[in-house]
Amino acid sequence: MKTIFEKDNGVSGITFCDEAANTCVIDEKFKRKLPLELPNVGELEALRHYKELSDKNFCIEKGFYPLGSCTMKYNPKVNELLASLEGFTGLHPLSDDEDCQGALELMYKLQSALKEITGMDAVTLQPAAGAHGELTGMMIIKKYFEVNGGKRTKVIIPDSAHGTNPASAHLCGFEIVPVRSNDKGQVDIEALKSLVNDDVAAIMMTNPNTLGIFEENVLEISKIMHENGSLLYYDGANFNAIMGYTNPKLMGFDVVHLNLHKTFATPHGGGGPGAGPVCVVEKLKDFLPAPVIEFDGEKYFRNFDIKHSIGSVKAFCGNFSVLVKAYAYILMMGQNLKEASENAVLNANYLKEKLKGEYLLPYDEPCMHEFVLSGERQKEHGVSTLNIAKALMDENTHPPTVYFPLIVHEAIMIEPTESETKQVLDDFVNAMLKISDNIKTNPEKVLSAPHTTPVKKIDETLAARHPNLKFVQE
Ligand SMILES: *Cc1c(COP(=O)(O)O)cnc(C)c1O
Repeated sequence: MKTIFEKDNGVSGITFCDEAANTCVIDEKFKRKLPLELPNVGELEALRHYKELSDKNFCIEKGFYPLGSCTMKYNPKVNELLASLEGFTGLHPLSDDEDCQGALELMYKLQSALKEITGMDAVTLQPAAGAHGELTGMMIIKKYFEVNGGKRTKVIIPDSAHGTNPASAHLCGFEIVPVRSNDKGQVDIEALKSLVNDDVAAIMMTNPNTLGIFEENVLEISKIMHENGSLLYYDGANFNAIMGYTNPKLMGFDVVHLNLHKTFATPHGGGGPGAGPVCVVEKLKDFLPAPVIEFDGEKYFRNFDIKHSIGSVKAFCGNFSVLVKAYAYILMMGQNLKEASENAVLNANYLKEKLKGEYLLPYDEPCMHEFVLSGERQKEHGVSTLNIAKALMDENTHPPTVYFPLIVHEAIMIEPTESETKQVLDDFVNAMLKISDNIKTNPEKVLSAPHTTPVKKIDETLAARHPNLKFVQE
């Protein structure tokens, strides 16, 4: 056979293809020597197999999921139904504007809703995740200074920030300058002042910050930065702390990203898809990625003609199904988005007050949607935060975020979200108190946890150094 071209088929190596005859053969040396052991089972058995596998997973439908900085709340199933409507799923992204007016209208109205919620003036729905929104926002800031003739190379980021903040700014070519937190867990204003100079393009802040604490001096910070000609970036991943109460515009920010897959009810984890829209003030409007969805009074259209656009950051208009779910959620909630924030904050404060006697609360301040405990007291008995997290798995609870933010030793970061009842919160408090009791009386039990999960305690170092990627039937 004459080999016309070779292509790597990704599984068994090189396939030799004869384009004219429209055939491909796999080289003998790549062929299986023994027949593949495929199970020979009935449909129902196959179904049971997959059901059993899915039962081994933990998910929000099975138990409490207080993963801090992740907003793992219940997402109404009706959103999935709407996103799977044939008119949406069957739509081709290359359709002409006049053939997809419904989808464009939905995106336009979602942009408007996000403008209202954030107080900002223009929106791109393209970015596929929070970190992607951060990168997009930083690219906008960079281009803004390029166009306006300033050479600014540095971005200030508080030491409590989510790791994606410095990563995104660095990826965009900025030098990261950390600013320390004070004893109230907030940006140290004097330290900030000493870092501000002509090189500083922006500050990236999260407010409430990752300790769950509202930055009281945010207006002063905004003044300091703006007087220096710098911009302010707001990490709005966990927006359920403030929805309807305040917004980044009122706080003096210029750019904000939202995580639709956290605050606006799309399930997340496991690789997405997500959406991290970026909202900007008027003066940054001309830098947004193209296209932006607009309305001329008669029809909706994709505007690619954006003067200083940073270009496109994702194919077409982003992860459309996520946009449908977020829009459905916003419409369903309406004014009650404010109540969602109220409950998120109430639930977090309730847990904080119930747990702060037994566990150390390093920053004892009123919190917003989350708070951070320290396992230092328990550590004195030889049991670490990691062990506490594992022990929670035996209590039908997903472990909270641990060892983040970095400024708290043995950090346990708890975010109950707005969707849990008092009963669930009380059960969690009891589980946490029980574990702390066990640490004093029977530490072995906690050290060897979890006991009830399909996979018991794993040696994480071994798993990282010598990963066994083959599925082995027990
Ligand atoms: C989750 C989160 C991010 C990153 O969002 P991804 O969608 O995971 O990229 C950034 N900042 C904060 C504060 C977050 O909680």
